[in-house]
Amino acid sequence: MAIRVRDVLQVLEQIAPSAFALPGDPIGLQVGSPDLEVERLMVALDADPRTVTKAIYHGCQLLVTHHPLLYRPLNTIRYDEPVGSAVQQLCAVRMGHIAVHTNWDCAPGGINDALAEQVGLEEVRPFGSGAQVQSFKVVTFVPPEYVDTVLDRMAAEGAGEIGLYRRCAFYHLGTGTYEPQPGAKPFQGAVGRREHADEMRLEVLVPAHRLQAVIHAMLQAHPYEEVAYDVYPLHTSQSYPLGRVGRLPRPMRTDELRHYLAEQLSNPHLRFYGKPGALIRTLAVIGGSGGDYLGEAHAVHADALLTGEVRHHHTWESWARDIVLFEGGHRETELPGMRALAQRLREQKKILQVEVLFEESV
Ligand SMILES: [Zn+2]
Repeated sequence: MAIRVRDVLQVLEQIAPSAFALPGDPIGLQVGSPDLEVERLMVALDADPRTVTKAIYHGCQLLVTHHPLLYRPLNTIRYDEPVGSAVQQLCAVRMGHIAVHTNWDCAPGGINDALAEQVGLEEVRPFGSGAQVQSFKVVTFVPPEYVDTVLDRMAAEGAGEIGLYRRCAFYHLGTGTYEPQPGAKPFQGAVGRREHADEMRLEVLVPAHRLQAVIHAMLQAHPYEEVAYDVYPLHTSQSYPLGRVGRLPRPMRTDELRHYLAEQLSNPHLRFYGKPGALIRTLAVIGGSGGDYLGEAHAVHADALLTGEVRHHHTWESWARDIVLFEGGHRETELPGMRALAQRLREQKKILQVEVLFEESV
């Protein structure tokens, strides 16, 4: 069966849920149609005219990039301007374009996890502001001996995650009552007879983007023919921070760390702002433009922040906050994450029979 753009979007929704995108970020399908057939796709950082040309040359029908091509409402699509030229090229060959931007920054395994891995951080944890995803409480009523089975299946789909804790739930024993009608095949009891059964009321927290998958898993695991369950929208949300912070493989002075990071990111021009001789044990990372996270990195006791590019005021802010700031290159700090995305798509071979190319776009 032909794979279409909508199938790729579905897989990407699992890997980089759109709920993780920061407000106003124009992620998703930017050019094309969900119906377009895809045999080969290219993952890259940008949908710039050179990358689009390469995708056309390699016979791709879809381009998946980190940066959105269309950021602001366009007044014109001029073929002599870079954005208009890329749009024109995409349309001329009916190629689709999808952006996975801040949703891939925040997602587990995304841009910032890949960057942390690239520079060898250990004991990595999220930090800072990021996506806020609405929470739901799912409640179901389970025979006591099935609580673990049902909870395991729900947790496997992302229910019951609170901070660094997994499989969080609450349950208590009660009595469920029902009267099976002709044709029913009750798990416990008999047709026409009023039944009173021991049941556990099982309550689990579920973020909005996992709700359908969790309910599906619960229905699959539950032994009842008809499953009673409630879904409550909550006034709270779950936070999915953008940044990652972790311990360096060994403490390093600023200049030694500069050499180390330059090597890890293949960027000899990597530079730093702040104290030259500082001893750095804990490093925070944000791919791309993460200078605004200096304060939040300092608040989690990071000795330094590595990001892609900084603005002038970040340079004196690093001195003022006494935290070293490394500028590793926008491209260099985001490429590991896009390479990881290409790999994740390749691993979906069973449901996504497409060839996945990766373009570094020098
Ligand atoms: Zn970026």
